[in-house]
Amino acid sequence: MHFRTRFAVALMTIALFAFGGAVNAKQAPLSVTVDTSQTVNIDQWAQKAKALEIEWYPKIVKIIGAKELNPPPPVKLVFKAFDGVAYTSGNVTTVNVCWIEQHPDDIGLVVHELTHVVQAYDKPAPGWLVEGMADYVRWWCYEPASKRAHLDFTHASYKQGYQVTAAFLHWLVKDHPNIIKEANAACKAGTYNDDLFVQWAGKPLDQLWADFVKANS
Ligand SMILES: [Zn+2]
Repeated sequence: MHFRTRFAVALMTIALFAFGGAVNAKQAPLSVTVDTSQTVNIDQWAQKAKALEIEWYPKIVKIIGAKELNPPPPVKLVFKAFDGVAYTSGNVTTVNVCWIEQHPDDIGLVVHELTHVVQAYDKPAPGWLVEGMADYVRWWCYEPASKRAHLDFTHASYKQGYQVTAAFLHWLVKDHPNIIKEANAACKAGTYNDDLFVQWAGKPLDQLWADFVKANS
């Protein structure tokens, strides 16, 4: 390397360090490997799912305030027949090919599963919140409003997770725009406890839920 180039690189490196996140190296796209070896006729859906994951990876990172990894974790999408819809373990999402054959429009499920890849919690975190955040990303950030279920919250609980918790989180975000990011940070650090909602939203969790049900029934 030419000396002047090296000097310029050194300066740039200093600038990168000095400005931290402000001067970002180009973010590498998500790498997604698709395994359809155990299936037939799923390739087109699988390629659509892969493209959706590549598009949504940086969006999910922003929504939940996760640390952006460069390169992102190499994601694998495995399609096979099993009892269930989809699940994610580490960076591997397994999708039930029979479900997709019967519900080809359910492509948004990969946004939910990819949120689990981004969450990457390696310490205990409450399941209702983990699933609620993943469904918040899917149903309130990705899916059109017309696809969302109309839920009756009167006999429900935020502890149900999934779409119930997602609707609750969406309602909380309106007045507390950082609450998803704060919840993610606490789950990531392994420091989550219900009392943190007082800090994040000014009231105990059960009181917030009661207010939500009152406002949505
Ligand atoms: Zn999930």
